[in-house]
Amino acid sequence: MKKLTLPVQILIALVAGVALGLVLALAGGADIATKYIKPFGDIFVNLLKFIVVPVVLFSMIQGIVSMESMRKVGSIGIKTVAYFLCTTAIACVIGLVMANVFNGAGLFPDLSSELGSAEYEAKEFGGFMKTIVGFFPSNQWDAFLNANMLQVIVISLLFGGSIIAAGEKAKMVRNLVDSIYSVIEQLMSFIIHLSPIGVFAYMTWVVSTQGAAILGSLALVILCAYIAYAIHAIAVYSTAARVFGKISPLKFFKGAFAAMMFAFTSTSSAATLPVSKECADGMGANPEVSSFVLPLGATINMDGTAIYQCVATVFIASCCGMNLTIGQMITVVVTATLASIGTAGVSGAGMIMLAMVLEAIGIPVAYIGLIVAVDRLFDMGRTCLNVTGDISCSICVTNWEAKKEAKKAA
Ligand code: ASP
Repeated sequence: MKKLTLPVQILIALVAGVALGLVLALAGGADIATKYIKPFGDIFVNLLKFIVVPVVLFSMIQGIVSMESMRKVGSIGIKTVAYFLCTTAIACVIGLVMANVFNGAGLFPDLSSELGSAEYEAKEFGGFMKTIVGFFPSNQWDAFLNANMLQVIVISLLFGGSIIAAGEKAKMVRNLVDSIYSVIEQLMSFIIHLSPIGVFAYMTWVVSTQGAAILGSLALVILCAYIAYAIHAIAVYSTAARVFGKISPLKFFKGAFAAMMFAFTSTSSAATLPVSKECADGMGANPEVSSFVLPLGATINMDGTAIYQCVATVFIASCCGMNLTIGQMITVVVTATLASIGTAGVSGAGMIMLAMVLEAIGIPVAYIGLIVAVDRLFDMGRTCLNVTGDISCSICVTNWEAKKEAKKAA
């Protein structure tokens, strides 16, 4: 018998997880899933988390060093960030339009009677300058220990740049980075092959514990977010794949499938990084480019999160009896873009950053409590979209760079 490919194995695991989850939900066995099945998913995600810092650090340093010049790093960096910002702004607009369509049609349920039960501790925001200062680590071990990805990226940029600047003298360090990275690649491949187990365990758990919520009153907001996710994926990523990446959308989604499914179940872009890398490289992304774009994307590029924040804001506003003005909507687009950049690629982070968007338009942050129970359901879709966006960017930038090189050569 032909061996099943990893995406097929993941798909089977997903379907089996949903089936078992439904059975457990109907039989009242959600506890069994939480106690005995979810831990296997946790083991798998722990393994991924444990290699995330080394993967980001070494893949970025290696990517930068292999580009041979900081000018090239800058050129790829500018294209990457421009792509991220444009797609995220489009995501916000799609999210807002969809939310307004639902709201206008009176589809958002009226939860005002439950507003009293909103309990959610808002996180303090220290302000813009403090956030910028926070990108720069005062102690590298602290950054590694807390898996502070923005700081790890800054460290990689500084080390990568310095290795290039040191030239011949840094040859040993260069070889060391190469050699460590090959070991990490082996480790990643081993862990990735365990992913069907993680997917199965998490799907069973989510469906058995949250199945009722899908059928409950929050269904319409969740549906609204998922329609917006789908529109964004189809409109933006298909177009980007065809126009800039020069591959058919079908081939693109097929190639990204394993990472999308993995993101869907793990709800962490950072943890999905190793799978995204395999998918992007498998579709023809230049490994030099993908080692730079993907870790950066997993940290700052969150189109799904931006959509979620827009939809959730309109929903919460409507629950409070507020209708957003055009000015407030523009504020939502700007703050959701920034908030999504600041969102860490870990489970549930987007909901914490939602506080920033709500604050910007004067909605009490405590009302996040209205959707907190079903955040995981939003998170699955948004993480899936976040990761797809990173992969699409690495394909597009690969093409742009190849074109530039070809022009130069000519
Ligand atoms: N879980 C998302 C991610 O890792 C972030 C979020 O919560 O929005 O991409």
